[in-house]
Parts: sequence; C-alpha cells; structure tokens
Amino acid sequence: MLLFCPTCANLLVIKQGFEANRFMCNSCPYVHNIRRKMVAKTYPKPKALDDILGSSEVWENVDNTEATCPKCSHTRAAFFQMQTRSADEPMTIFYKCLGCGNTWRD
Ligand SMILES: [Zn+2]
Ligand SMILES: [Zn+2]
Repeated sequence: MLLFCPTCANLLVIKQGFEANRFMCNSCPYVHNIRRKMVAKTYPKPKALDDILGSSEVWENVDNTEATCPKCSHTRAAFFQMQTRSADEPMTIFYKCLGCGNTWRD
C-alpha cells in the first residue's frame, strides 16, 4: 500500500509504534496513525483456549518434546505454540503429557 502526504505529496513511510503503526512524511511533520484493528480479533479467549486444548484434533499432528508433566512427572509431552496475547509478546507453548494426557501451558 502506497500513500502520499496530503500536505506535500511526498511518499509516506511506515513507522512501527507502540500502540499503532504510523505513516510519516519525511519532508513535513505530517503523521497518520493506523490502528491495529484486525489483529486483536484473532486472539482466542481463555474459554476458547480450553476448548482448543480439550479437543483431540489439535494434538494429532504436533511434535513432542522433553517436558516434565506437573501431574505425573512423565518426561515427554506433545506441544504446539500459539499467539495468545499481543503480537509483540512471545508465543505461548501448550503441552499435553504423553503419559496421562494432562494439558498445561508455558
Ligand atoms: Zn509531507
Ligand atoms: Zn502426565
């Protein structure tokens, strides 16, 4: 997407901001904030997360790794990663114990 400054018609550059990305003009003080609307919608709610962890489908084709189950101390668990908070934060890792089926998150 290319945008031009409404004031001086120069090409605007995109700067990553904390709350929003901004279009900025290099030759005048023009700034246009872009709200990140679309991203927030895609985060699963805590309830939805439990549904995801409870469904057997998500665990069918995932890798497994060395992880100690907090319930039975089994040392291998299936795992996958998901973005559950803002895109700037690290992914959440979900585990499912290969011994007892217990699920937990990291
Ligand atoms: Zn300008
Ligand atoms: Zn276990």
